[in-house]
Amino acid sequence: LRSCSATLEKPSGHRERRAGWRQTRREEDLASTAHAFLKRLKDRSLDALVKAVETKGGVPGECVAVPRTELRLGGHHVSPQYLLCRLFRWSDLPLSARLKALCHCQSFGSGDGAKVCCNPYHYSRLCGPGEEDTKTGGGIHLDFHLGH
Ligand SMILES: [Zn+2]
Repeated sequence: LRSCSATLEKPSGHRERRAGWRQTRREEDLASTAHAFLKRLKDRSLDALVKAVETKGGVPGECVAVPRTELRLGGHHVSPQYLLCRLFRWSDLPLSARLKALCHCQSFGSGDGAKVCCNPYHYSRLCGPGEEDTKTGGGIHLDFHLGH
């Protein structure tokens, strides 16, 4: 049996001071929401997701289908694809941003299916007026530990 977990790498207090690294409340929320979400992913989905992230979308990659759900992020509800796009692609993605599935993705044009693809490289970001400025500056580093 393969164990599958995603852990968050947090700098130690010492490194934190030296690097001047600050964790904002928003980043903490993002990290804990992501952690909880990734932990629930099936092996197969996690594998596909890791591959997509490692190749940075260099290959079209498989869809990472997850039940359509809403995740709590701070005081907001966000979609799984929003969470992963924010995490792996655009750290400044505002909550109001709209994401559009690419045409090769199973979520393309499928309005309200029971499942939604959350491969962040299967989405393009639609920028619209009224985007709030939510630049977080730093990124959050997720390490996948896939024991084989
Ligand atoms: Zn997809």
